[in-house]
Amino acid sequence: MGRISWIFVQAFFWGMFVLPLTHATLHAAEDRFDEARKAMIREIEGDVRFTGEHIGKRALDFRVMEAMGRVPRHEFVPDSLKPYAYVNRPLPIGYGQTISQPYIVALMSDLLNVGPDSVVLELGTGSGYQTAILAECVKMVYSIEIIRELGEQARDRLKQLGYTNTEVRIGDGYYGWKEHAPFDGIIVTAACSHIPPPLIEQLKRGGRMIIPVGGPFMTQQLILVEKEEDGKTRTRQLLPVAFVPLTGGH
Ligand code: SAH
Repeated sequence: MGRISWIFVQAFFWGMFVLPLTHATLHAAEDRFDEARKAMIREIEGDVRFTGEHIGKRALDFRVMEAMGRVPRHEFVPDSLKPYAYVNRPLPIGYGQTISQPYIVALMSDLLNVGPDSVVLELGTGSGYQTAILAECVKMVYSIEIIRELGEQARDRLKQLGYTNTEVRIGDGYYGWKEHAPFDGIIVTAACSHIPPPLIEQLKRGGRMIIPVGGPFMTQQLILVEKEEDGKTRTRQLLPVAFVPLTGGH
């Protein structure tokens, strides 16, 4: 067989069988998670209806739900837990920490009431999943994580997934991030015994903070803090939750 026709046969072989196979395999993997992600969305919608009375609404912001339908949660969990990535539960991410339950991530993102021009502060980057959901909906997310390894992993992961509007800092979030304050929204994803005063200070007038308040071995309450235009704050208790504790020296 001449050289040219041999190349042709090879090209034909790779083109006909191998390439479509790779493509199909990739697609199958994508589809597997696609279905699971759609099921997760239906579960979140169910939970929202079930808790409607507490949270004062029967559906969440469509932009938040679209983000939940887009962000690949399986990229934010350890390899061994990927098959469970879209279960509506928190999952361990190492260092005694967890990635929050999808329903809680969606609810907290919705309650912030933020939009495409908003700048948000997040305390407790963890896996970076909540950071990614917010990054899909707002202009910029500043996130603080106290465990160096988790913060650095999340930073790399967010970069790899193409997020250019997130910044992760290692440190104690209790004191906020003064250089970028005031924030349109502040989200705290670890439970604190009280609302940290530096965070109230760094919240913009008209802005909202969402924070779990309570001790580590008891039921905590998800609290919505609203800073009025006159600077006064109003708090509303929404529903019982269970978060890992906010640590640090404060
Ligand atoms: N939003 C995360 C949830 C992480 S759990 C996610 O979706 O994956 C809470 C995180 O808060 C943990 O990673 C924990 O290390 C971090 N944390 C606890 N105390 C903190 C503090 N004082 N400052 C910053 N992060 C803190």
